[in-house]
Amino acid sequence: MYIVQIASECAPVIKAGGLGDVVYGLSRELEIRGNCVEIILPKYDCMRYDHIWGFHEAYRDLQVPWYNAAIHCSVYCGWVHGRVCFFIEPHSGDNFFNRGCYYGCDDDNMRFAFFSKAALEFLQQSNKKPNIIHCHDWQTGLVPVMLHEMYKYHGMEYQRVCYTIHNFKHQGIGGVQTLWATGLNREDYYFQYDKLRDNFNPFALNFMKGGIVYSNAVTTVSPNHAEEARTTDIGCGLGHTLYLHRDKFSGVLNGIDYDFWNPEIDRYIPYNYSYDGFAQKLYNKKALQERLMLRHSDKPLIAYIGRLDHQKGVHLVHHAIYHALKKEAQFVLLGSATEAGINAQFQHEKQFLNSNPDVHLELGFNEELSHLIYAGADMIIVPSNYEPCGLTQMIGLKYGTVPIVRGVGGLVNTVFDRDYDQNVPPENRNGYVFYDTDNYALESAMDRAIALWIQYPQEFQKLAIGGMQYDYSWNDPGDKYLEIYDWIKHKS
Ligand code: ADP
Repeated sequence: MYIVQIASECAPVIKAGGLGDVVYGLSRELEIRGNCVEIILPKYDCMRYDHIWGFHEAYRDLQVPWYNAAIHCSVYCGWVHGRVCFFIEPHSGDNFFNRGCYYGCDDDNMRFAFFSKAALEFLQQSNKKPNIIHCHDWQTGLVPVMLHEMYKYHGMEYQRVCYTIHNFKHQGIGGVQTLWATGLNREDYYFQYDKLRDNFNPFALNFMKGGIVYSNAVTTVSPNHAEEARTTDIGCGLGHTLYLHRDKFSGVLNGIDYDFWNPEIDRYIPYNYSYDGFAQKLYNKKALQERLMLRHSDKPLIAYIGRLDHQKGVHLVHHAIYHALKKEAQFVLLGSATEAGINAQFQHEKQFLNSNPDVHLELGFNEELSHLIYAGADMIIVPSNYEPCGLTQMIGLKYGTVPIVRGVGGLVNTVFDRDYDQNVPPENRNGYVFYDTDNYALESAMDRAIALWIQYPQEFQKLAIGGMQYDYSWNDPGDKYLEIYDWIKHKS
């Protein structure tokens, strides 16, 4: 099969979170199974050019209609750790992708509406005929809309779209100018409830809703989150739309790329180890303590890695730091906040805790350091308010770092409480789960984990080693996506 992924991220060249990991990991898995995969991305000024091999200009003269004129684009091609990627660079005064950031601009909706249009123009003008176009999140929600309403009539009638939602919180809201710019025009038509009209704001167009309505298959990133999104407010207003389109909507758990996230071969950690040489993990803990200037002592080390925002339960992350210290454990945090208030709060905490030898807060994005933390920590905490899939707990498991998570979204599908999970036999349980969003719930799970580490170290090690043997690779999700592609290939 010939599959084209259209996305705003692909790790490690463009990565703000899990989306980048998924686009890369899924593409790799599909290729291993003999499919041809290409990835179309924006050419951001701030992406990691050092991760692209053979970067060259492949198409000089891509003209993308925009309002009543056209924007001239160049398309670059290169290999990102073996994957063929095309990067679209528009030459216009808008400087859509030369902003020093991936997201967070006032005109994000226009930037990605343009990207969606340009990706389709590129496919059409270069005469590429993929069987499947796989789009991701709100940034590419307009791809199936434009494909179905415009490009289908210009030689792209056989392309089928799979649309994956990684986060319902950000849906991409546009106004009538989106329609004029992209050439969709017909305001009255697209503002109908069964098309793009936002379910709550009658004056807004919702890109993600468009993606759901017009795609041949829609997925989100775990079975439990699919259920939550359809039936609770976690769907952020799209529950009814998902209900109407339930026949083509499902949850497929993300995988982890075990070539990149694997303590046996990880080149970012000083001591490689596997489950039968688990003692080596301790040396990574020492290396981590040294690198972050933590006290060398025999205490459990708890880590948090992730974005610092409300989704991730920042109030609990904050509490976890102090509770760990109270319990005489160590704590390492690696995270970045885009919201000014949260950033200020954690900057303040960092200063306040600066001289404490048992805690380190690293504020920023640091891929290399994240590997050492996964390898060096004893436990990883994921206290999210909601979590579509969550990769950090799965990476933690692979590194023998026991997850302590809140029971929501994909965390429910991947972490099984050592003491209480009745649905999983004791030998298959792999972490600690709590449910409420208050401090006490978090504390009780942390206390259980810390107590096991201190009082029954052999049992704790057994738990960690058991977690390492779980298979959260792309193997199973790869099968599921191929089944979906096969199913929609034959749909009209
Ligand atoms: P989300 O996609 O909601 O941000 P996920 O758990 O799905 O969360 O994916 C997070 C990914 O981003 C993981 O690979 C994690 O290691 C990585 N990550 C998050 N924050 C940082 C950071 N500050 N530095 C390095 N890696 C990070």
